[in-house]
Amino acid sequence: MTFDLVIRAQRVVIGDDERPRAVAVRDGRIAAIDDLNVDLAANEEIVLGDGEVLLPGLVDTHVHVNEPGRTEWEGFATATRAAAAGGVTTIVDMPLNSIPPTTTVDALETKRDAARRQAYVDVGFWGGAVPGNVDDLAKLHDAGVFGFKCFLIDSGVEEFRPLDPAGFAAAMTETARIGALMIVHAEDPALVTSAPEGRDYDGFLRSRPPAAEQRAIDRVVDEARRTGGRAHVLHLSNAASLPRLRDARAEGVDVSFETCPHYLTLDAEAIPDGATQFKCCPPIRDHGNQDRLWDGLAAGDIDMIVSDHSPCTPDLKLLDTGDFGGAWGGIASLQIGLPVIWTAARERGHRLPDVVRWMATAPADRVGLTHKGRIAVGADADLCVLDPHAEFEVDAARLLHRNPVSPYAGRRLTGVVRRTFLRGQPVSPDGPALGRLIERGQR
Ligand code: ZN
Repeated sequence: MTFDLVIRAQRVVIGDDERPRAVAVRDGRIAAIDDLNVDLAANEEIVLGDGEVLLPGLVDTHVHVNEPGRTEWEGFATATRAAAAGGVTTIVDMPLNSIPPTTTVDALETKRDAARRQAYVDVGFWGGAVPGNVDDLAKLHDAGVFGFKCFLIDSGVEEFRPLDPAGFAAAMTETARIGALMIVHAEDPALVTSAPEGRDYDGFLRSRPPAAEQRAIDRVVDEARRTGGRAHVLHLSNAASLPRLRDARAEGVDVSFETCPHYLTLDAEAIPDGATQFKCCPPIRDHGNQDRLWDGLAAGDIDMIVSDHSPCTPDLKLLDTGDFGGAWGGIASLQIGLPVIWTAARERGHRLPDVVRWMATAPADRVGLTHKGRIAVGADADLCVLDPHAEFEVDAARLLHRNPVSPYAGRRLTGVVRRTFLRGQPVSPDGPALGRLIERGQR
């Protein structure tokens, strides 16, 4: 039996372990995992360098691509090339900031047409739950979206409106009925004030207090409990919400939690005046909060780390005036999430298998992609070769996403992605677009 490809490495991350292994690929899937030096017939063989580690490709379930409609913010070609360069082999695209937003099956098809033939990695889609589209949710679910995103507060774009409490309850009732996952931007508008104009980060931070997240998260938990449905809290920023979340899960409420690289590695005290590249919602909070988010990851209370890659054109960041009140909120980090997290995680005593669990396996599992995000026989041969000791300095102009704005610019990071494979094929930003459009429940 001849394999298409065999990759041999001293360090292969498998489950909670790193082992010397030979990983054999046939027809795009991992067909065998064997001892490092075992004889295997293969059309191609790759032996990783001593310092290199073989990981599963990352699965990023929180990416805003914005094409069509705001392609100048970010498009499928640029986003997925950045993903591939960063070791991310699957993204799930958010339903808003593109026009149309993904709130009907027609809009989903429009998005798929836009993504087709220019996806360098696999691309799935979230649907949107907005006022008035409860009847569309089952149709979108059948059409293959991975679940539904809603906002409990203004989304920032007028064509994607938030759900009020009654609307959220109705949408959760429907997603519970059809078995879909509801993912929620959880901030309560009653506790958020409009961000003051000016270059002062603290003013913006105070406008979106922890209590706003807490109260919205309580609503998510209550609705998940009431309906028996599945819910997911997006971009958790406020660590003080964790005990409540832990209690809810302990009583069997089906709710999961993600946080993002910026909440784990940037802190409010260090954000310079006028540095609107750090603006995102909910906001980056203080250093003590950051420590407690890491505790939440270590304890398993936070399931996953995803990018919330949410770019815009540089002018909308108002970098010239540095006005936190008017600047667009969103951070683009798809390409460097792995080194950003690895740099901090190793300093905090975590291992690469932890990072893989947070950034690949857990997000894949939560959206039902159990054949991705792991190195296992039968899984897709989506792989990433990481040099976990090499260092580099972030140069925003050299990142492959569309607009060269990054709060990580100038940061020294550890961990360089050397190669990325999608179904056993090497992915290069200069090569062909090998990604597929993927659907819930299909392989
Ligand atoms: Zn987002």
